[in-house]
This record gives sequence, structure tokens and C-alpha cells, in this order.
Amino acid sequence: MTGEPSQKLRQWRIAHPETMTVIVRDHDREAATWGSSGPWSPALKTVEISVKCPECGGRRGEVRGHNQREDGVSFHVNVWANPCGHIDYYASVIHEAKVRIELLATSSASWTTLASKTRRQPQ
Ligand SMILES: [Zn+2]
Repeated sequence: MTGEPSQKLRQWRIAHPETMTVIVRDHDREAATWGSSGPWSPALKTVEISVKCPECGGRRGEVRGHNQREDGVSFHVNVWANPCGHIDYYASVIHEAKVRIELLATSSASWTTLASKTRRQPQ
């Protein structure tokens, strides 16, 4: 399975109580293993993110479990719909979680800093 949150994430959670833990699919990691032999399996990741939308700071939607089936493999991910209408793509969520882990080292990071660093630039 995806394992327990790391020690750093636990510490971060104590300092920032308003977070949620979600299971997402790492499509980039799946793409990296295309063409390799062996049975396909989804790259699932448990990440810790803010309860707030990085675009507008509004509250994210309620997290629900979602069963998926692909290539005969069943797995479980989380989905949520933000009331503000901003869509959380799994890639952005994984990016946000990564940035947050990096920011654990610099605990003085404010919400504004987090929001500006986790926001995805328009393509
Ligand atoms: Zn929003």
C-alpha cells in the first residue's frame, strides 16, 4: 500500500491543522513506466494538502472515495469537487504536496507564500 505519512508530514500537520489527506494517481509516474514489462499497476500516492483551494483560498470540496478499474486492475482513489469551481488536477495536487514538504524545513511560510508557490502557472 501507499504507507503512512512521513514524520515531516506529521509535524507539518501539527503546525498546520487545516489539511486533508488524499489518495491520488500519479500519472507522470505511470507514464514513466510505459513500455516496461510486467503487469500494469496504477501509481497511487497518498498526499497531504491544504483544505483550501490554492487558486482562491476557498474551501475545497468534501473528499469521497472512488473505485476505478483499468486494465483489469481495481484501485481506490479520492475525488472531490471544489465549491469554488476550480479543478484540482492530480498533477497540481502532487506538486502542492511536494512544495509543502519542501516548506516544512522553513516553518515560517505564510499562506500567501504557499499559495503563490503552489499555484500552477497558466500554460
Ligand atoms: Zn478556488
